[in-house]
Amino acid sequence: MSKQRSTTPTDVAGMDRAPNRPNAGSEEAYTDEQWDEESYALLAERADPAHCPACGLTGFFGPRARDDAPKFRECRFCGFYQEVGQQCTRRRPVSHGCDQWPKIAGAPYIWWIAPDERWFHCGFCDRRAAVETSSVFMKGSGITAPSDDPNHPWWHVPQDQSYSFYYSYWEQWPSTKGRVVF
Ligand SMILES: [Zn+2]
Ligand SMILES: [Zn+2]
Repeated sequence: MSKQRSTTPTDVAGMDRAPNRPNAGSEEAYTDEQWDEESYALLAERADPAHCPACGLTGFFGPRARDDAPKFRECRFCGFYQEVGQQCTRRRPVSHGCDQWPKIAGAPYIWWIAPDERWFHCGFCDRRAAVETSSVFMKGSGITAPSDDPNHPWWHVPQDQSYSFYYSYWEQWPSTKGRVVF
């Protein structure tokens, strides 16, 4: 029959509800100080790039900034996304079916969008693309995240490498050139 629950004195209430998820810590808001520390470690100290809190991989995840957006960190393998002051969310992967859309490390480049976005701007052909998985709209298609596809080529991206390794690795493709974690 089923396994008996332990009744030892250490089996106190609440102990079996201890967090046991790899990204448990990410449910807390990401602070400005954390972003500063992560950016300093990566870009000033050139520390080994960190593991993504959600999928655990290296080489895709890191702190980022854009002129028109809050500071954030994201993973381009699983879609983990977290802005300063916010809890983490998961972004949605898309690719454009145009001829200019590049291939990176053996698979189409991925653009990550917010879950509620219905359109995205393709930076390669400079057109607006619908987010559709239907064959009627092949121009902008939702795709499966590499983390959800056991056969995705990016599983072969070397893991636990140094800053300089990933810097050189992503230099191979124009759309990721000059980015430590793409
Ligand atoms: Zn990830
Ligand atoms: Zn395009």
